[in-house]
Amino acid sequence: MNSRKIERSRAIAAFHKRCQGNKGKPRVDNVLLRAGAPMYYYCQGCGVEMSLPEDHRCNVPTHCHECKILVANGWMPTKRKVRRKEAKA
Ligand SMILES: [Zn+2]
Repeated sequence: MNSRKIERSRAIAAFHKRCQGNKGKPRVDNVLLRAGAPMYYYCQGCGVEMSLPEDHRCNVPTHCHECKILVANGWMPTKRKVRRKEAKA
């Protein structure tokens, strides 16, 4: 494998590890926070928590730094749709 492919496979392995680590973690509801408290956002890729000062809402990141690299390189794994097995009538 060339170094680019190795880099890609390592980045995707790290991505899956982050996804597993963030799975099921409780999420902060920003509505319940006091005024002036930092706002919480979650990466659309791996779900990692990102907190920003309340006045930074105009530039909310959609992905964490690591996932941004995956997106920029076109390496972001697509979420597979789970098909429900249809019961035979
Ligand atoms: Zn992420």
